[in-house]
Amino acid sequence: MNNNPKLVGQAALVTGANSGIGKAVAIALANDGAKVVVNYVTKPELADSVVDEIKANGGTAIALQADVSNEQQVQAMFQQMYQAFGTIDILVNNAGLQKDSAFQDMSLADWQLVININLTGQFLCAREAVREFLRRGINPAISKAAGKIICMSSVHEVIPWGGHVNYATSKGGVMMLMKSMAQELAPKKIRVNSIGPGAIQTPINKSAWDTPEALEKLLTLIPYDRIGEPEDIGKLAAWMASDESDYITGTTIFCDGGMTLYPGFSTNG
Ligand code: NAD
Repeated sequence: MNNNPKLVGQAALVTGANSGIGKAVAIALANDGAKVVVNYVTKPELADSVVDEIKANGGTAIALQADVSNEQQVQAMFQQMYQAFGTIDILVNNAGLQKDSAFQDMSLADWQLVININLTGQFLCAREAVREFLRRGINPAISKAAGKIICMSSVHEVIPWGGHVNYATSKGGVMMLMKSMAQELAPKKIRVNSIGPGAIQTPINKSAWDTPEALEKLLTLIPYDRIGEPEDIGKLAAWMASDESDYITGTTIFCDGGMTLYPGFSTNG
């Protein structure tokens, strides 16, 4: 655990936490003292290994299965969390996937799958968390806020992405979900923000970094000239969940090495 843990006594749920960014976020929150639910939908053995890693670091975690796009499974997961930890203070809406294709070939099933998981899944989990934040209110010994929600968005909430129209649309939707919730819920002292990762080295984008040629092409899009690590996002999420960011709500913080700076324009001024 960190020397100065900022989330002691808080209960956090991270969706899609058995891989990539979600795993790093779960570990970072636990390192700051939060009790963490490691949500997963497949591969329970990977969720168990995240739980084991957190426990080995002196933290507290449990793994809970739920498909975030399934209302009943989401509600059951939150009830299981309350039985284990009593309440929720921090939700990280991280679960997501891609189903890429040329626009004219995109099936309705692939459109709906991505919207259901990446956007509706965030709505379903956020609604459960907000119901509990409102029921419980602020616990000043724990946090200045009644609750914190962090939505995992993407640079593609602002950068259009041909060949990935369903994915970019889902992240554009996450941006307005986040902002509208933040506006409605700020008077209740609930903070809602997004993280907009750029290219982070995880299984979701393996083809973009797993050969030297692919990585070189990818780096032309990243002024800071390195691919992101899941831990870059984990550290940011832990800070955004803490009272150190208490006056921040309704904002996307891009963590992208400058990808949203339109690097293609750097020599064309
Ligand atoms: P990943 O594939 O490693 O992790 C995605 C996680 O979501 C996995 O644990 C997966 O099992 C889970 N998941 C998928 N469908 C689910 C469902 N129905 N219910 C519950 N969990 C489900 O990829 P990642 O890069 O770690 O992605 C995490 C988030 O970060 C996603 O929302 C993704 O869109 C976003 N993101 C990633 C990058 C990047 O470069 N890696 C960039 C921008 C945004």
